[in-house]
Amino acid sequence: MDRQAQPSQPRSEERTAHILILPGDGIGPEVAAQGVRVLEAAAKGAGIELAFEEGLIGGSSIDANGSPITDDLIERARSAQAVFLGAVGGPKWDALPFAQRPERGLLRIRKELGLFANLRPASVFPALVDASTLRPEVVTGIDLLVVRELTGGLYFGEPRGDALVDGLRESRNTMVYNEMEIARIARVAFEAARLRRKEVTHVHKANVLEVSQLWVTVVEEVAKDYSDVALHHQLVDSMAMLLLREPREYDVIVTSNLFGDILSDEAAMITGSLGMLPSASLGEEGVGLYEPVHGSAPDIAGKDAANPLAAILSAAMLFEHSLAAPEPAAKIREAVASVLDDGHRTIDLVGDSDLAPVGCAAMGDLVLQRLGEQ
Ligand code: NAD
Repeated sequence: MDRQAQPSQPRSEERTAHILILPGDGIGPEVAAQGVRVLEAAAKGAGIELAFEEGLIGGSSIDANGSPITDDLIERARSAQAVFLGAVGGPKWDALPFAQRPERGLLRIRKELGLFANLRPASVFPALVDASTLRPEVVTGIDLLVVRELTGGLYFGEPRGDALVDGLRESRNTMVYNEMEIARIARVAFEAARLRRKEVTHVHKANVLEVSQLWVTVVEEVAKDYSDVALHHQLVDSMAMLLLREPREYDVIVTSNLFGDILSDEAAMITGSLGMLPSASLGEEGVGLYEPVHGSAPDIAGKDAANPLAAILSAAMLFEHSLAAPEPAAKIREAVASVLDDGHRTIDLVGDSDLAPVGCAAMGDLVLQRLGEQ
């Protein structure tokens, strides 16, 4: 991992790593609770001391504080080793003006902590090959990593917003990147590829967007420092098709905020369920933020039906990237694989099979059980 994007390691004089838990809304608290249980157990097994504190973000913060995130919470996040988040949002807050909605809390914490690199691995556990809507021979062996730029581009560019122009309602967003923003995310991708199959695919729309042309130029400049890594460029529209046709061909995919948002959900779906995919957001300040890729799933919230494995696998990423502890991370992944191998499924993974689904907390129990047996 690029030194710039590597969150701080636990300071040697400080034995306890402080983790800020932000359960959020909908199924967020349900899956985060299972993630925390696994964090605790895996840390204990590895002799790592964790101290947890909790905070509000999204709709729960709107209800308590009148805004989706507070300055105080940002400060608490800054002084933590890592932030572990559930999910935000829900119909209760959908009618609020855009700037006050739950998702703004998430965008702000990413921006304020400088979390410019979003790592979303998408791989298929052998036991879940049949959970994908794609044929088993297409999905078997998928192991890709989407590296999404997270703090720039269309989601943050100015000018933005509504206007009345010549009596007509108009609205605009701006896609803007400078070379520094592109180079630092490209480096994260090349560094990650070095630890994997040494292939980077840069996804763009350079046939119509000047911004994408700059991406192509800068990514190629960065590539000169990584002659051991192969670089390909791919238009985003064909990438959307290729991910469905031959997802196994890809190793590391690096792209802008907008394209990464869409492609990482597509990658999630071909692996079976949104409920399986973790993410890490890393930056320059040293704090890492870990969260499942999925949202707050209001349709199943409060029913103990959510799949907690994306949150649990996000806990594994926390060990790896914020605590420099790959062993507990590997143990968590082994425990998850073992539970799945034994046929345990939450409802989203059952598909057409005749397996009886387990609930969110029961799935957490099973992973903890396997961790205890290792
Ligand atoms: P979603 O990811 O919440 O749900 C999409 C579908 O996947 C739903 O059918 C849901 O039941 C299912 N699903 C998602 N996670 C699951 C899990 N862990 N286990 C089982 N099934 C799961 O996306 P959405 O419905 O588009 O959005 C719902 C709310 O979440 C919105 O308010 C949206 O803004 C918010 N959202 C938040 C985040 C985040 O917090 N990072 C991300 C995306 C969406």
